[in-house]
Amino acid sequence: MCGIVGYIGKENCVNFLVEGLKRLEYRGYDSSGICVLNEKKLSCYKKTGKIVNMESTLPSEVIGKSGIGHTRWATHGEVTDANAHPHLSANGKFAIVHNGIIENYQVLREKLIADGFEFKSTSDSEVIAMLLEKNFSGNFEKAFYQTLSLLEGTYGIVAVFADEPDYLMVGRKGSPLVLGIGDGCTFVASDVSAFLGHTKQAVYLEDNE
Ligand code: GLU
Repeated sequence: MCGIVGYIGKENCVNFLVEGLKRLEYRGYDSSGICVLNEKKLSCYKKTGKIVNMESTLPSEVIGKSGIGHTRWATHGEVTDANAHPHLSANGKFAIVHNGIIENYQVLREKLIADGFEFKSTSDSEVIAMLLEKNFSGNFEKAFYQTLSLLEGTYGIVAVFADEPDYLMVGRKGSPLVLGIGDGCTFVASDVSAFLGHTKQAVYLEDNE
């Protein structure tokens, strides 16, 4: 299990995501990535190795008013760029970061493949993004709850949906998540140290919240 960061607000969050991940570096990791949402389009950048490796792939003009980031400690699937988080759904509209282990991912994956979903990674976490797409019928929040109800194992998850840029959905069971209340923005992270430089107001989530 490694680190998660997320931001939603008015500012470009790319620097916060990268710096936040660097503050979580002490937890150890094998890859990192960020995904930002701008004008209803998600852009993902991920790379094995140090966070600076991923940072060096970012175009200088990249902008996001919301976004998610992840440092991975691989549990399922090798250490590859494709297995690094964030993971996108098949239609590219949902992106997730996940800390923890989805114990029943193989069963879920087989069902999704039978439904025509094409996977790009061998990580357990990618099923979460696919399930969001599959369960979506007009309401992001409902799709998120429905998806969580299908997962067995442990998770801290942050999800973003291209068509509803005013929301990040977050949920935890067995992996830590904490919200940071900023001035016109909200942060989320697996460890408060990721956003302490931006706000002192933290709300620790309990399991099943
Ligand atoms: N189980 C996931 C993976 O292997 C998440 C690992 C983590 O928490 O960093 O990709």
